Amino acid sequence: MKKKNYRHIFFDLDDTLWDFRTNSGESLRALYSKYALDKTAGISSVEEFISKYQERNVMMWEQYRLGAIDKTTLRSRRFELTFWDMGIDSSLVPPGMAEDYLAHLTSRSNLFPHTREALEYLSAKYSLCIITNGFPDVQHNKLKSSGISDFFSGVFTSEVAGYRKPDVNIFFHALQSSGAVADESIMVGDGLEVDIAGARNAGMDQVYFNPEKIPHQHQVTHEVHSLQELKNFL
Ligand SMILES: [Mg+2]
Repeated sequence: MKKKNYRHIFFDLDDTLWDFRTNSGESLRALYSKYALDKTAGISSVEEFISKYQERNVMMWEQYRLGAIDKTTLRSRRFELTFWDMGIDSSLVPPGMAEDYLAHLTSRSNLFPHTREALEYLSAKYSLCIITNGFPDVQHNKLKSSGISDFFSGVFTSEVAGYRKPDVNIFFHALQSSGAVADESIMVGDGLEVDIAGARNAGMDQVYFNPEKIPHQHQVTHEVHSLQELKNFL
């Protein structure tokens, strides 16, 4: 295969650069203590609370992606439904906890190993942008608190674009807005469906970031298990 001359790299943010699972876990742990959920809601295990929340959150993001629920429902109902999943009366969710969670979450700064050095290396050679289904306010805060905001010349969110990954239109929107063409662009992400299939359908090459080495059958241009490996071909 002829080596392509890439000029633009597009990154997913959550679970590709910004370690969502760790940051979310830390935030939930802080809320568990702050609201004494062991006493006020009878949740004896913080680990169970975290895993139930994360399960429910993934489910609701999928519903949001498919257009079945809106942003307000996603944000306001996920704790109630987590309580429900745990057999706890949802009226016991402390008022304001959903907003408090977002404030905690977006102030966290855990990144995947080698994120900063990879961005430093790549930003010297390519223009870097973000394409994310997350909400603009939240995503901008995450970029700032983790100190990587300045590496990116553009942050394209589904809410502003009007399309959600894997819809090709969000990729076209990002390409056009950053003066890029698909043939000179590559997408890096952890989502085989939303990032990889989406970018492929938009005519872009793709890098599947697969830190847990999950087996799969998808055709990908490149696959890496660590961000450090990006410099092997970029
Ligand atoms: Mg992701």
